[in-house]
Amino acid sequence: VAACRVLRRLSCPTVAPARPTPMFTPSIISSNMATGTIEVSKQRFEELLESEVVHFARALRPHPMTLQQILHLQDAKSLREFLLEELPIRYARRVQLIESLSRWSDFPHMRVIRSLYFDAFRKLRAVPPEEEERFRSMLQDIKRRNANMLFHVMRGVRTMRAKHALSEEQVNRFLDEFLTARIGTDILSSQYLAITKPDSPTSVVTPDCDPVDVVRTAAGDAATLCRHHYGWSPPIDIVDVGQVRFPFIKQYLNYIMFELIKNSLRAVVERYGSREAAEAYPIRVVVCGDDDTIVLRVSDCGGGIPLDDMDQVWSYLYTTAKPACEDVSSASDSDDDDNDSDDDRGIAPLAGFGCGLPLSRNYACYVGGWLELHSIPEYGTDTYLYLNRAGNVEEAMPTDIDAHL
Ligand code: ADP
Ligand code: MG
Repeated sequence: VAACRVLRRLSCPTVAPARPTPMFTPSIISSNMATGTIEVSKQRFEELLESEVVHFARALRPHPMTLQQILHLQDAKSLREFLLEELPIRYARRVQLIESLSRWSDFPHMRVIRSLYFDAFRKLRAVPPEEEERFRSMLQDIKRRNANMLFHVMRGVRTMRAKHALSEEQVNRFLDEFLTARIGTDILSSQYLAITKPDSPTSVVTPDCDPVDVVRTAAGDAATLCRHHYGWSPPIDIVDVGQVRFPFIKQYLNYIMFELIKNSLRAVVERYGSREAAEAYPIRVVVCGDDDTIVLRVSDCGGGIPLDDMDQVWSYLYTTAKPACEDVSSASDSDDDDNDSDDDRGIAPLAGFGCGLPLSRNYACYVGGWLELHSIPEYGTDTYLYLNRAGNVEEAMPTDIDAHL
């Protein structure tokens, strides 16, 4: 509640109120004398909604939050009122970001993602704040429908790139902005679903997250995947130096560590060829930190990366594995536990999407962290993940979006 109040206080006074225009104006309502009913012109309604999206994206500003603030958003009513103002602004900006790409509408996957966000905007604008259950199931529905968003957006931009509609630089800039923005709406919606969970209310932010515990889970999952694809998996040592605890979103830390460890496993497997040969070269994960920063380092002796390729590893289009963007289910990064869409999920490849590193960096940067990769060519790679310990850094807002509007 306090965080909501702070946010309201902080909101810019020049900004128009978030629910500025009644959706039904006399010009879009007509009465049908024959049937005695009042009809709203569907087309006019859509036009009005379109112009409302533009207004929300241009005239209103999202409120950046810290993890601590999100953790303390525990009152369902206040959070619902806040989200009914905040989410439409963020979704409207996403629609505009997609539309900022020239020729976007020629590409089916881009049309799909645009319509998913437009629909989410429409639904949020229609739900009255007092309808708690309806709001909750609407958020669940939006989340479920967006579960394959990563697949659609990756396919969309890759096709645009192939048809020369975008340069590689434009692809990377668009994805950085788009995916960063997506993290924010995901967290806020997840927080509402978590605190209103029947029987066991919780929070999307774990207040005393144990990074070593997360690393163990991620390492176990990555090793299982590695064994599935190669028949064996290199050893992994986890070194817990400081027994640090900090407020963080476990799901995101898990995603990053899973991606980094998968990369190391693949490099070691391809370099040594057998468990016996790799035995003397374990992948080592060190977890430590001081009062300000948590550091996780993944080190491997997998042969490193040629220095000339170092810039490329942060591109969403770069992979040295067989490209694996064809499978819908394994491209999804959603692990929403309210979700029932992953029942028939296939086994994911170990590499080949090319987005593990850039997406991990997005998650890290989102709340004041960063990710670095250091290579010793012909020897190995060290990846450093730094995270803000206090959880008091505001979420990164895609700033470039303003330049497109
Ligand atoms: P993917 O794993 O799907 O290829 P990533 O973004 O995770 O995508 O990695 C991009 C590329 O960076 C990999 O294909 C690989 O060439 C290189 N790379 C990343 N981590 C390592 C590592 N630890 N050792 C060697 N090469 C790596
Ligand atoms: Mg990878």
